[in-house]
Amino acid sequence: MKFTVIGYWGGYPKANEASSGYLLEHNGFHLLIDCGSGVLSKMQSFFQPEDLNGVILSHYHPDHTADIGVLQHARLIQGFLGKEMDCLPIYGHSQDEAEFAKLSYKNITKGIAYEPDQALTIGPFTVQFLLTDHPVPCYAMRIEAEGKSIVYTADTSYKEELVSFSSGADLLVCECNFYGNQNGKNAGHMTSVDAGTLASKANVRQLLLTHLPHFGQIEQLKEEAATKYSRLISLASYQWSVTL
Ligand SMILES: [Zn+2]
Ligand SMILES: [Zn+2]
Repeated sequence: MKFTVIGYWGGYPKANEASSGYLLEHNGFHLLIDCGSGVLSKMQSFFQPEDLNGVILSHYHPDHTADIGVLQHARLIQGFLGKEMDCLPIYGHSQDEAEFAKLSYKNITKGIAYEPDQALTIGPFTVQFLLTDHPVPCYAMRIEAEGKSIVYTADTSYKEELVSFSSGADLLVCECNFYGNQNGKNAGHMTSVDAGTLASKANVRQLLLTHLPHFGQIEQLKEEAATKYSRLISLASYQWSVTL
């Protein structure tokens, strides 16, 4: 599996960058995980929207979904221009009916509700879900293919269930919206120390800090996480990638 960061800012994108969006590829199947503001623009520097095979959304906050509409337009227009494409499945939870309804557009994209208590197969990937602690329904995902595993926390404050959910993952993509001296609980986000604690308790092979804050020195997040977790820690950046 190849995992590539497209956008990694929490809440909104920094200038010329993007909020949450990650591309996962295996055996020629391309899955976009979240589709935040700026993702469609940043993705096109290395991957075209008409080549996507699926999209999966953790929740319906705009920093994770803002570019769904323009992704639909891109596929519509490329279709007019002669590009052959299948209807694109967009997987999301159906606990917000109005938001879920927006995932289907003409014969361009089709919203498919995932059942959070059931494993979902998308191409070569198996996806399991865990409800997070966040102001709106949001799901962490454990994505596996050929014995390798990636856990994406999506947006959440620290919760103990994340430990067993993330156990032994080859890569933990952990949100880190606050610094170690802050408390993310009320906002529904984790701190650097929470991220390090989760990575350590779950004994993951490596940690990627993402959904980064718009204040402070972000390198400090890595140092703070390292007080709890001694293996490889990276800060998300545009086109950061790993092949597992
Ligand atoms: Zn977010
Ligand atoms: Zn959110």
